Amino acid sequence: MKRILLMSVFLWWSNQMTAQKFSAGICTWKDDKPSAVSITFDDASYTQYEYAYPVLSKYHFNATFSLVGEWTKEQASYSAEPGMFEIKKMGWQEIRELQKAGNEIASHGYRHRRYDRRLPLDTLAKQMKINKTLIENHTGATCYTIHYPYSFANDKTALAAKKAGFWFGRTGNENYNSDTPSNLLLLNSKAILSDTVPNLTEFENRLEQARGKWLILMYHHLFPKGSKEMHILDYHKVRNTYSLYPETFEKQMQILSQKNYWVAPVKSIGKYIIERQHTKLKTYRCFGRYIIKLKTKTDKFYDEPLTIRVKLPWQKVKVKIAGKETVYTNKQGTILLEALPGSKIIIKKTK
Ligand SMILES: [Zn+2]
Repeated sequence: MKRILLMSVFLWWSNQMTAQKFSAGICTWKDDKPSAVSITFDDASYTQYEYAYPVLSKYHFNATFSLVGEWTKEQASYSAEPGMFEIKKMGWQEIRELQKAGNEIASHGYRHRRYDRRLPLDTLAKQMKINKTLIENHTGATCYTIHYPYSFANDKTALAAKKAGFWFGRTGNENYNSDTPSNLLLLNSKAILSDTVPNLTEFENRLEQARGKWLILMYHHLFPKGSKEMHILDYHKVRNTYSLYPETFEKQMQILSQKNYWVAPVKSIGKYIIERQHTKLKTYRCFGRYIIKLKTKTDKFYDEPLTIRVKLPWQKVKVKIAGKETVYTNKQGTILLEALPGSKIIIKKTK
């Protein structure tokens, strides 16, 4: 009798020891990266397509491009705000090409005007919905994000955006976002004010300080040196040109690429955060295998896989996620797995 008791105590103990070597958690950011960065553009300036897009492609970065409905024609065209000089804007052709390449297309208002907060909530929501529907009709994809014109937004504007069907809203505020922002419809961003503000050192510091947080960069135009547009801006001594030289943009992206950060559109990072907040991991052992269930209550449309950090006592494992089996060599004692909320991960020891 005593022997059986000792035996079962030993079994319980050894089970506990293996269990201690197994744990699973959701990473704050995809691929367990230390920070998240979104590159965002406003006004759909043609220079973004001409100069920024090739650089983004070179570094495999996808960005968020926002457009003003009334400025967007099928072909690229010139438009301006009253009292401003005309700037070439992208047409739906360029917009669709950017979207097909994995970039996000966001709304920047049907008109480039501040949304009037004094209007009733429903009226505001209706106004915001016009450009959302226009974008969806032209691109065939859901428009999740709004960049408020002039970054002009408050709680009411955010509520109207939510009512209009947006998930994410970007303002200014020259600040970072935490890994769990209090309102995804009032996201902070940091603007590129000119070719030298921030300068490259300041840009790098800005990235350094983004550790653990979500940095949203706000860009406008990329007028080249000696261009007609830069001459006009120089002539009028405009300090905040909201434009930088294509070479400077390339240097900034090079600095960013050296940072091992997660660079993705607003909707991808935003969705990841929502999924992380709504998913609980349930782990258990069954017939010598480890099971991880990604339990979620909501049935919203989730398509951004979460990265799961799994600590394991085994050297080589076979992992099954959504019917697909992959073999992993677990050298550091930890493996990273990608799975959608609602799915199940089965881990088996193998040789
Ligand atoms: Zn704008």
